[in-house]
Amino acid sequence: MSKDASFENALAFAADLIRIPGLPGEEGEVAGRVKAEMDALGLEDIRVDNAGNVIGVARGRGDAPAALLNCHMDVVAEGDHDEWEVPPFSGEVRDGFLHGRGAMDIKGPLALQTYAAASMIGEAPGDVVVAHTVLEERGGLGMKHLLESGSVAPGVVIIGEATHGDVCIGHRGRAEVEVLVAGLAGHASVPGRAHNALDLVGDVLGSIRDLAENQPSDPLLGASSLIATMIDVLPESRNVIPDSAVVTIDWRILPGSDDESLMSLVREAISSRVPEIPDGLSLDVRMATERQRTYTGLVEERSLLTPGFMMDANDPMILAAAEAVGRRQGEGAATIRPWQFATDGGWSCGVYGIPTVGFAPGEERFAHTNRERIDVEEARWGFERYPYLISAVQQSLAV
Ligand SMILES: [Zn+2]
Repeated sequence: MSKDASFENALAFAADLIRIPGLPGEEGEVAGRVKAEMDALGLEDIRVDNAGNVIGVARGRGDAPAALLNCHMDVVAEGDHDEWEVPPFSGEVRDGFLHGRGAMDIKGPLALQTYAAASMIGEAPGDVVVAHTVLEERGGLGMKHLLESGSVAPGVVIIGEATHGDVCIGHRGRAEVEVLVAGLAGHASVPGRAHNALDLVGDVLGSIRDLAENQPSDPLLGASSLIATMIDVLPESRNVIPDSAVVTIDWRILPGSDDESLMSLVREAISSRVPEIPDGLSLDVRMATERQRTYTGLVEERSLLTPGFMMDANDPMILAAAEAVGRRQGEGAATIRPWQFATDGGWSCGVYGIPTVGFAPGEERFAHTNRERIDVEEARWGFERYPYLISAVQQSLAV
């Protein structure tokens, strides 16, 4: 069955996708639906890679650098259904909004991007690759895998996370770092036989505060920030001296930070407070990790770091994008700004250096809430602007 690349069909596709739940790692059914739609729309080279990302190509008329359109297929948990005004998996249009989990983060924009690409078959200045990824909400394993594998080679990436019609050019990233203190456990009644891991925790917390007072700042993104959020001790008993204490740090990072640079900053801050580790204790700094499994069975133990990125607001490609999109209400070019939240653009631009820009209808304040929705008229406007955006960025890269 073939389908017209119309807005009405795109909206119906978005509603269908909302009706298929898919937490991170459980995107299989959503992926199947996305693949079928790509086929009905006439995309070529449709495939699912071994991480479970779905990829299809809308062939352009020329050889301008390929644009990669990206959304993710996972959504965050919907929580208590009773707290939703409109049921989370209804995909209902009510009062001018499409409602439900994923309406704006990100199944609505996913549908619009896919249809916008299809509407440009034979017309775009270059190929338009549509690649919707897995596990974005858990740090971006899907996007990392897609770019690492080399199965796509875009000149520009367009991320469909909500911008409310603005052009977004970056965001801070996030990392979790752990400081481990190890000692010797013992009975609390004979402290002399043990080495209490808690003895160093005060200095560790102090070092984290020292480091927090000296964070670099970016004119658009603001400063990076870090704070201790958890202390876990083992054994977990009120009358046992623990041999292990782990302090967790939540760190909102600027572009350019990686595992090594973050860990060495923590080590330096600790060693200036504690030049010598007391006998019987040891100290280690590591990235927090998580074992993740894709719906296709790929397993990876990953560091919990989502990179940040920032494009130059005066980059000709960015200016062309803002000009092409225009203002939803009023005259002139779209507003250029960073996002508040992190996206897969941290991988495409922050790590792989591919020029990346964000554009999608939808208001950021509805993301991850039980009021998630997208304004249908704003979605229609965004759908109509997408081809201008794609043409503009491809042309600006072709010169
Ligand atoms: Zn999202």
